[in-house]
Amino acid sequence: MIPLSEAREYVIGSVSPRATATVPVAESVGAVLAEDVHAVEDIPPFANTAMDGFAVQADDTIGAEDNPVTLKIAGTIAAGAAGDIEVKQGSAVRIMTGAPIPPGADAVVMVERTKANDDGTEVVVDLEVPVGNHLRPAGDDVKVGDLVFSAGAEITPGHLGVLLSLGRTEVSVISKPVVGVVSTGDELVVGPQKLEPGQIRDSNRGTILALLAEAGFETVDLGLVPDDEAAIEEVMRRGATECDAVVTSGGVSMGDFDYVKAVLKRIADMRWMQVAIRPAKPLAFGTLDGTPVFGLPGNPVSSMVSFALFALPSLRKMSGFAHIDGPRVEAVADEAMARRPDGKTHFARVVWRYEDGAYRFTSAGGQGSHQLSAMADANGLALILDGDGLAVGDRCEMMVTGPQG
Ligand code: AMP
Ligand code: MG
Repeated sequence: MIPLSEAREYVIGSVSPRATATVPVAESVGAVLAEDVHAVEDIPPFANTAMDGFAVQADDTIGAEDNPVTLKIAGTIAAGAAGDIEVKQGSAVRIMTGAPIPPGADAVVMVERTKANDDGTEVVVDLEVPVGNHLRPAGDDVKVGDLVFSAGAEITPGHLGVLLSLGRTEVSVISKPVVGVVSTGDELVVGPQKLEPGQIRDSNRGTILALLAEAGFETVDLGLVPDDEAAIEEVMRRGATECDAVVTSGGVSMGDFDYVKAVLKRIADMRWMQVAIRPAKPLAFGTLDGTPVFGLPGNPVSSMVSFALFALPSLRKMSGFAHIDGPRVEAVADEAMARRPDGKTHFARVVWRYEDGAYRFTSAGGQGSHQLSAMADANGLALILDGDGLAVGDRCEMMVTGPQG
């Protein structure tokens, strides 16, 4: 067995960030920016009002709280209008949120502190406002020439909004890998038909495809292949051609019919590892014609844990992310979790909540590597180091895999 850190260094160290690509901005969310973005114009592009109300000269409102002032209404400016009605001393312009501040005005009085007469010619203001009141200057958010985002930033919906505000239609990103997923095993079937003796249903392929989609990767479903060397070789070659990375489940451990192992040994450049963790001890990683291949174990919990520890951080590194792992926190066991010494770190499926200033967890249920229901209920993986386990109140590291339970 090799330590988890060594296996991770090997696998993650074997992949590198991919080339850049120019994509439509709407498709860039979730990718890493590959260019510095400078503002080519101000946001907002012109001074505008933050409130519905009246554009005025602030001086005209002095003392308005005690002696309301009457101003002549010179016109109305809606959002989208050019707004070239001048505001002179003693006059006001009715103005809607987002409309340009008209020339001559230096403040806005919100509509709630005004009362227009019935024929709309005059307005009474009962609030004294300072210069600049409710006025958003041009460039208040971003100034022309500013470095808005640096290469390396992850593009979020908020970043997309700024890019759209700047009129960008395309942006340069690190292209994300398209990931193929294949499951292997003669015992596996797909669909609702009655199971024959010895058969189980293929759950891993769907789960891994969903994990990839959740992490923002485009996927290719390479299907289910039987324990047959020719079929496995064909699907692996197809995956290496059509995809930028391939994830397999099953057939990488020590069994007599682990044909994935037999095939990849022959056609790919692979390393076979026994990692000192439970679940997910067996792991294969290597390249087939330069395409990374992640050989995850077949047990459903093992394949998910292995995905989280090896495949996902590697794929995130290929995508250019600076942070490739999810959050890890210190957490307190609210329940004893016994184990036996076996030289491995156990990743226990737990349910955590944040209470009294600490992350506190209990077991999510059955801890066998085939017991997927506890993995489904879990929102964390507690790292129980080699030894006899945790007593109530013991602390350990925990991977946060979902929101508070
Ligand atoms: P293997 O890694 O092929 O030795 O499989 C280990 C265990 O995982 C066996 O019990 C398999 O039946 C099970 N298994 C393998 N692939 C899948 C899959 N795609 N879905 C559900 N269980 C699987
Ligand atoms: Mg198998």
